[in-house]
Amino acid sequence: MAELDRHHSQGYEQEGREPGGPLPHSREDFDVAAYVRRVRGGPCFVCAVVAGDPAYDFEQVVFEDDEHIAFLDRYPTLPGKVLVAPKAHVEHVVRDLDEEAYVRLMRTVRRVALAVEAVVPSERTYLLSLGSGQGNAHLHWHVAPLPPGTPYERQQFHALMTENGVIPWSVRQAAGLAERLRAALAGPAGTCFPEADEEELTGGGVNRVVRVGGTVRRPARRWTPAVHALLDHLAAAGFGGAPRAHGCDGEGREVLDFLPGEVPDYPLPPYAMADDALAGVGALLRDYHDATVGFTPPEGAEWYFSPRAPAEVVCHGDVAPYNCVFREGRPVAFIDFDTAHPGPRVWDVAYAAYRFVPLHDPGRDGSAPGVEEQARRLRVFADAYRLGVADRQVLAETARARLGHLVAHMRAEAAAGHEAFAAHVAEGHDLLYLTDSAHIARHEALFLAALSSEGPGGRVGMSAG
Ligand SMILES: [Zn+2]
Repeated sequence: MAELDRHHSQGYEQEGREPGGPLPHSREDFDVAAYVRRVRGGPCFVCAVVAGDPAYDFEQVVFEDDEHIAFLDRYPTLPGKVLVAPKAHVEHVVRDLDEEAYVRLMRTVRRVALAVEAVVPSERTYLLSLGSGQGNAHLHWHVAPLPPGTPYERQQFHALMTENGVIPWSVRQAAGLAERLRAALAGPAGTCFPEADEEELTGGGVNRVVRVGGTVRRPARRWTPAVHALLDHLAAAGFGGAPRAHGCDGEGREVLDFLPGEVPDYPLPPYAMADDALAGVGALLRDYHDATVGFTPPEGAEWYFSPRAPAEVVCHGDVAPYNCVFREGRPVAFIDFDTAHPGPRVWDVAYAAYRFVPLHDPGRDGSAPGVEEQARRLRVFADAYRLGVADRQVLAETARARLGHLVAHMRAEAAAGHEAFAAHVAEGHDLLYLTDSAHIARHEALFLAALSSEGPGGRVGMSAG
């Protein structure tokens, strides 16, 4: 969201992968009849977990005190589902507990639910107690986190019924999840994470972004699950130039690692305008795009922007100085992946070139060099990206199309009542983009020539994959 969310999200340092890996979100068919036979004919599963029966290997215990036990649901319909039960074999949700015992159990349910919210991405938490005198009779409460962005028709009872499938997972993933939950539950009762002080990273605006210790917290949105899946993929692919995601916290905010470094703001400091920085961004963007090849978005993935054909890569959607972390003058990471969406490489490259060369109309303020220097820097950027011949030929027109898309989006959001976009339109940002687009159109032949001429590095057009 172009200039909307400046400063922002922030990424992370390279730690090891989460133990057990991310939890899958898709469901697989579940043999309900066999399950019913087991629970109605077999021993009490809660008592078995309390006794430490090793056959209950998915039912990893995440919390235990004298009276209560909390453990992972073996057949989760939602990722991160946990069961909380009294250790004693009691069956009725209210009649078998006196008031004090009931309240103590509810306190435990709340404490576990806060930990689940801290560890597992969710937009709501469902709490319910079912069971039956005829099966799964031992009183237990379900703590069920609803993943952000779940379509309405798949929420509530649909989300909870095993008839609609269960999450396929492994004991290893269960162990990883249990470890994170135990860590979240290790604090004093009634708290979840002993949170560090929060430091505001944005000056208000659309998203309140804060830093908490080594993490950044930003509001989770409907596209957050897709973005987190992308960030998980990048980490698994060994791409270090993006933050790692850690689900959501108890306040519904996404949790990302904070990436130390400098994020340049306008007017850009000299280090951000150096040729080395420009080439570094081109190379980093190429590495990022290459790392997204082979990424399969989660089923039903929602993105901020609609995917564009051909979906060669996952575009970042807002590659700009305000979304780039520098260390010692070198670009090392991109942040704020909110606008990521599948699309062609050149769609992202053209916008990044517009921002970093930059391709502003030099006449509009002092933010851009003269057009000859722009053409030279454009070539530096394209070469660093190793942009293909065909993409070079459409780079300038794609930059104009990208600006047109941005203006249309900004005006549509403003018309729909989005205050921040309305403010940008009121300040004339849309007209600035159109001024720049006209500038690019006027000098398209010059830019094309610079991109395609024989350069000192030899012929252009090394394959862009
Ligand atoms: Zn029991």
